[in-house]
Amino acid sequence: MEVAVVGGGPAGAYCAERLGRSGHSVALFDASHPREKACGGGVTPIVFERHPELREIRDAGRPARGARLRTPDGRVLRLEIPQPIDIFSRRVLDALLLERAKAVGVEHVVERVRRVAVEGDGVQVETTASAARCFDFVVGADGASSVVRRCLLGEKPGGRGGWAAAGYYVEGLPEREIYIEFLRDVKGYIWAFPRPDHSSVGVIVPIGRESGSALRRRVLDMLEQRYPGNESLRRERFGMSIPSPTPWQGKWPRLGGPRFALVGDAGNLVDGITGEGIHYAIDSAAVLATALHEAGPLQAHRIYGARWRAGPGREIARAAHWAAHYYRPWAVDRLLGVAHWSGHTQRIVADLLMVKQPYTGLFARVARDAVAALR
Ligand SMILES: Cc1cc2nc3c(=O)[nH]c(=O)nc-3n(C[C@H](O)[C@H](O)[C@H](O)COP(=O)(O)OP(=O)(O)OC[C@H]3O[C@@H](n4cnc5c(N)ncnc54)[C@H](O)[C@@H]3O)c2cc1C
Repeated sequence: MEVAVVGGGPAGAYCAERLGRSGHSVALFDASHPREKACGGGVTPIVFERHPELREIRDAGRPARGARLRTPDGRVLRLEIPQPIDIFSRRVLDALLLERAKAVGVEHVVERVRRVAVEGDGVQVETTASAARCFDFVVGADGASSVVRRCLLGEKPGGRGGWAAAGYYVEGLPEREIYIEFLRDVKGYIWAFPRPDHSSVGVIVPIGRESGSALRRRVLDMLEQRYPGNESLRRERFGMSIPSPTPWQGKWPRLGGPRFALVGDAGNLVDGITGEGIHYAIDSAAVLATALHEAGPLQAHRIYGARWRAGPGREIARAAHWAAHYYRPWAVDRLLGVAHWSGHTQRIVADLLMVKQPYTGLFARVARDAVAALR
């Protein structure tokens, strides 16, 4: 099979690698590398458990073994993270994943795709630099502003529950642990994630709520309070949106059709509560690559959609639902308030950070622990 993968972030590079390993001829289109991408860069341990072959890249990140969480009412909770969360510069992480794909024979086409169309017996992929090439199947892994999604689903990327994010990469910040500060006046949080050679510091709030400069002001205020004297450190700003699935409305969103499918951010496959998407990018890439290898270009989207809905997609749907209805400053205050005096609840929060506690079953576990603590 001849496959075009549009986008060389984690979703595209890993999907290309998996297809290349299965013997398919893969062309990966992306003109952006090497580049940093607006991101915290936190990769949860579940990624390396589910995809053990990726463990070899783990050393390029910086393991965070502790976290400080500041509640909307100003209390700070310190947590041990039993299985470290690895924090990467995206320039490094994405380059390593792309190298792995190239090592199994994937062709890296350093061009930007501008149009994709399913026509007759194939898919035409046209770039800003060359004439259209024909493939059996196209993978849309082109992130939050996906051209593939626009062309083949006729939908704007993003979803209704998306986030606006802005912040800075700061060099020399004295931070070794994850720092998260939940906001009081709006859903969202500020983060500081220490990477090997700098930190990613930023904020997310629901899209449309605040301008980029207002968001950056929040980050600068936090930096001033928490790291006095940081103004002299070198910093570079970033800003971007994070897609999120539209909250559950009784119908699963489409992830493809005959000869195409969307993975990662292009499919809005992001946790609607935390904004994390790297592990869903990798998971969706793996599920699609297997489905395409097994079922071929005309049926792959069906198998992919069904397996996604029965697997990681359920968590994404739940997160989107909770983000819309329950994720509020008071709810964070309550949960973290209980965690101040309950070791059990601390463990739940650490498990949530590590993505070891599914949203399914979370309420039941919190309730069980609360009852046990009262006895
Ligand atoms: C500020 C911020 C902080 C975040 N923090 C975290 C975090 O700490 N942990 C976490 O798990 N997730 C985080 N996320 C989410 C995470 O960044 C994404 O979910 C993840 O990058 C999705 O991977 P992807 O491969 O689907 O898309 P991307 O990483 O966006 O890659 C898409 C690629 O497609 C390329 N592309 C786009 N259009 C075209 C085109 N027309 N032709 C060719 N190539 C194209 C782009 O250049 C890019 O290389 C964060 C997001 C933001 C914005």
